[in-house]
Amino acid sequence: MSVIGIDFGNESCYVAVARAGGIETIANDYSLRATPSCVALSGKNRILGVAAKNQMVTNMKNTIHGFKRFLGRKYNDPHVQQELKYLPFRVVQQPNGSIGVKVNYLDEEHTFSPEQITAMLFTKLKEVSENALKTKVNDCVISVPSFFTNAERKALLDAASIAGLNVLRLMNETTATALAYGIYKQDLPAPEEKPRNVVFVDCGHASLQVFACAFHKGKLKMLASASDPNLGGRDIDLILAEHFCTDFQSRYHIDPHSNHRAFLRLTSEVEKLKKQMSANSTKLPMNIECFMDDKDVHGDMKRADMEQLCGHLFKRVEKTLRKCLEDSKLHLEEIHAVEIVGGSSRIPAIKHVIEVVFGKQPSTTLNQDEAVSRGCALQCAMLSPAIRVREFSITDIQNYPIKLVWDASMGEDGEMEVFSQNHAVPFSKMLTFFRKEPFSMKAFYAGNIPYPDPYIGQFVVKDVKPSPEGESVKVKVKVRVNLHGILTISSASLVLKQDASEQDTNEQDNAGPEAMDTEAQKNEVNGSANQQQQGQTENSQANHIGNEDDTENQTASEKKDGTRKKKQLVKTVELPIEAYTHGYSQAELNNYIELECKMVASDRQEKERIDARNALEEYVYEVRGKLSSEEELATFVSENDRNSLCRQLDNMENWLYEEGEECNRQIYVDKLNVLKNLGEPIKTRRLEFELRPNALEELACVL
Ligand code: ATP
Ligand code: MG
Repeated sequence: MSVIGIDFGNESCYVAVARAGGIETIANDYSLRATPSCVALSGKNRILGVAAKNQMVTNMKNTIHGFKRFLGRKYNDPHVQQELKYLPFRVVQQPNGSIGVKVNYLDEEHTFSPEQITAMLFTKLKEVSENALKTKVNDCVISVPSFFTNAERKALLDAASIAGLNVLRLMNETTATALAYGIYKQDLPAPEEKPRNVVFVDCGHASLQVFACAFHKGKLKMLASASDPNLGGRDIDLILAEHFCTDFQSRYHIDPHSNHRAFLRLTSEVEKLKKQMSANSTKLPMNIECFMDDKDVHGDMKRADMEQLCGHLFKRVEKTLRKCLEDSKLHLEEIHAVEIVGGSSRIPAIKHVIEVVFGKQPSTTLNQDEAVSRGCALQCAMLSPAIRVREFSITDIQNYPIKLVWDASMGEDGEMEVFSQNHAVPFSKMLTFFRKEPFSMKAFYAGNIPYPDPYIGQFVVKDVKPSPEGESVKVKVKVRVNLHGILTISSASLVLKQDASEQDTNEQDNAGPEAMDTEAQKNEVNGSANQQQQGQTENSQANHIGNEDDTENQTASEKKDGTRKKKQLVKTVELPIEAYTHGYSQAELNNYIELECKMVASDRQEKERIDARNALEEYVYEVRGKLSSEEELATFVSENDRNSLCRQLDNMENWLYEEGEECNRQIYVDKLNVLKNLGEPIKTRRLEFELRPNALEELACVL
């Protein structure tokens, strides 16, 4: 069993594996470490990753990319509408308002959800890992942008389930990078010393994340993270493409906007040009043959031109850098280094802005492309019992404030900010309510989020009944931002006092919810296990009569040490909770899992068919070649047999390119067997001939 970390990028994915010897990034079937986030459908099969990207221009309408931006979003989301302007494939609104990608697959029209498309990519990554590691892979940690909201995180988890991946943690890309940096650093300050503060800048294909982190030996604490979710390398590509569109319109009288394929070629050419400009400040040419209307086009650009055209983007980079600096409350002299990761951080103008804001040249301690996946693999190893790895404590932060809203008719405030921005996560908070009947709470993001709807979900605490005296009863509700960064109401329990004489009157007078922090996951690395354990403990403690502090949480009792004399015997009863929030229902999920399994089986069948066809074709070429060579097989077969076999091989070749093009696997296998019955005896004769002198020599030695 291997554990892996997946960096799911807008442009490409990386997979890293944690092994006893360290962390390794896995190469895919094309011996590349980057697997494009690209999925294509065809009449015969699905084409995933590198192969999908390679055929994009010839199968544009069925080649899906840029789908990371669709996860958890509705069709009429302005952000989605903006994306659609540039995508050559068909996206439709589903009856429930969600996004559907319409494609031609197996010669029929199919509509897939962004979760399904993402699952297809994950299936590929799983297969790549299993091939490289020669074992089954299930457990993984997948990266998410720190700015992803509940809906997006849930959708990503659903996608992973569809692909049969067990996600131990959705890890913020920011935190994964910081872990990859910290874990191998031997010279981090001791716990009592001042931390080493490092700022990281990750500028990728479609987003920018800037984050500050404080390191001590064996631990990291996120201080702040600022992002521009819509700023990355592709924005530069688009500006350059627009520039050349105008240029070509005036010089060649062609409009690449009118032709999706031409526009796609143009963006891919300008991307190459952009990368060259990172290393070179002189004027660089861009030539595209047979671009449109059979015209070859030529353009050129130098770095300074690009910097001028994209100046407003670099200003936005600067704004995000300053926001992170401000939120981190660090002084410039307290910052040890600014580390850069992500493909677009290679752009000199971005490095320059970093230097302007932080007064330091950016450092490249980390592998810029692989840091996120490596951090995820490390985290996965820490969470999995399968692998031992150095312990490292991680304290992440909640990116947006979260508030809960409830019916205020009980004379209390009707809402509360449960998690402030940059609050440590994962984390649970206990709220106390006094109620006579079931009640519900709604959760919302309270800050500025890059998502049209701040609503997270509704949670109903059921089975609440008045006390025998007709009074309100005390209900404790545990609100948690879990290891995935997802808000949950992880438990609710009825607290029944056993001994009225010891009642804490103070507490009872305080009608209305009060918040109490429960144990911050001191070692987040074990957070998942803790979370589970907590859940189990809580369940087993239903109906248990004991010390209230112990029953609920340790930290609360420690905090309230001064009030320990007020301890009472209580009985807690676990209450059922109904959650109405984002993500698929189990039934929907099961349905998608089944569909994915069918597609995997169908792809495997198609692959076996192609392999059988290729094996037959190869045999034809191999034997025919050898039959014509004296050194190979020609001297081991009679003239007649040789001519007859050659005729059969020629016929087979013709058949393969005509009616034999699309047969099922068994036909190729049978035909190969027929040929082998004729060809193999000749090969055997040759082998025997070759071995004979050796056999004599061996015999001589023995004698
Ligand atoms: P995201 O982080 O936005 O989800 P991603 O992780 O797939 O996306 P990266 O792989 O970090 O993105 O970066 C890809 C981007 O970096 C592309 O836009 C690519 O053009 C750009 N890029 C890569 N190398 C260079 C370079 N040398 N100069 C300029 N840009 C580069
Ligand atoms: Mg990235």
